[in-house]
Amino acid sequence: MTEFDVSAFSQFIDTYSQKLSEFADILNDLDNRIGDGDHGSNMSRGFKAAAHKLQESPALDPASASQTVAMSLLSTVGGASGPLYGTVFMKLAAAWKGCAVIDPTLMGNGFQAALDGLAARGKASLGDKTMVDVWTPAVAEMLKDNGAIDYERTCLVAKESALATKGIIAKRGRASYLGERSIGTCDPGSISSAMLFEALASILIEGMDPILWRTLAL
Ligand code: ADP
Ligand code: MG
Repeated sequence: MTEFDVSAFSQFIDTYSQKLSEFADILNDLDNRIGDGDHGSNMSRGFKAAAHKLQESPALDPASASQTVAMSLLSTVGGASGPLYGTVFMKLAAAWKGCAVIDPTLMGNGFQAALDGLAARGKASLGDKTMVDVWTPAVAEMLKDNGAIDYERTCLVAKESALATKGIIAKRGRASYLGERSIGTCDPGSISSAMLFEALASILIEGMDPILWRTLAL
């Protein structure tokens, strides 16, 4: 498995940014049905800026790279998702401070801190049809086997959890204004979160099949 150093971190952000650009229309479409239609544009703009910034001024370690991503997101993404994903990368930076290589323990701790930050910032609980519905089970899967992370399994859990948001009522964010009418559409932030876990897994495990979001999410 690839070592998760600053170059792997940058690859992760590049891969995620490409995925968000490829599927921006799907994320916008989902957000159009239960929100204001900008989630794909917000996310692809933010991560394109973050990936660009990392190329322009390469960071020394994963923590400073993650801090750069957080700052880019906070300055380029408005709406709910900017501060939420910004918090994720700020918490990763804090958990990884001074470490050249992120081993599975640091990875698990970082993602747990990111989830805690996300939940504190958005005040959403599991089942509210937000990205917390993906982060909670995915991080639990990461932490399951003390010291070893099954990234493929984590990616699968994230995917299934994101698709399962289709059947529930939104209790937080813009989609909550729709009440029962939010049923029948996947939460866009949950889909973009599952794409983040997919991007992470794909740079650590070779030869993973890409998830067919176009068929699955709509
Ligand atoms: P906005 O809703 O401001 O237009 P986006 O469309 O970019 O922002 O992001 C919407 C996504 O943000 C939702 O799909 C949901 O997953 C997530 N979200 C919204 N509010 C919250 C919250 N309070 N806690 C966690 N996630 C949230
Ligand atoms: Mg929106």
